[in-house]
Amino acid sequence: MAGCVFCEIIAGVTPASVVYRDDLVIAFMDIRPLVEGHLLVVPNQHISGLADIPPSVGAGMFSIGQRMASALRHSGLPCAGINFFLADGEAAGQTVFHAHLHVIPRHPGDGFGLRFPPRYGHRQAQDALEHQAEKIREALSRPPAQ
Ligand code: 5GP
Ligand code: ZN
Repeated sequence: MAGCVFCEIIAGVTPASVVYRDDLVIAFMDIRPLVEGHLLVVPNQHISGLADIPPSVGAGMFSIGQRMASALRHSGLPCAGINFFLADGEAAGQTVFHAHLHVIPRHPGDGFGLRFPPRYGHRQAQDALEHQAEKIREALSRPPAQ
């Protein structure tokens, strides 16, 4: 798609440090890495959000993410663990609207982490959890929104 930086990388118009590509996805190094080795698994097809990713493409993103995680663990780069991260929508931190999976190598003292809300740690009452679960079950029972 015109104006999409990831489509430009896929087309070879914008340079990137590509580590892998196949018919479904490409994986390249993030230009502003959170930590050394941080890479992105990106569908070749321009898909903006999570809901639009066809199951076969999603499966490919996940399985190539697994392969990238394994490669990172064996790469010699600092990597004692891995986080997968996918931001869907602006409120979730998505800045490039071509869906992508972050693969982030982790090691003690890397300085990266999630910021938890102040109330985190309080176990929620079962009736509150059940109320939320009921809303989600209800949504699941309706046909998927187009
Ligand atoms: P998001 O915030 O949408 O989850 O992540 C977008 C990611 O794409 C960011 O981590 C950002 O550093 C990366 N990014 C943005 N523009 C470019 C680019 O031109 N090349 C590469 N390799 N990564 C990019
Ligand atoms: Zn795109």
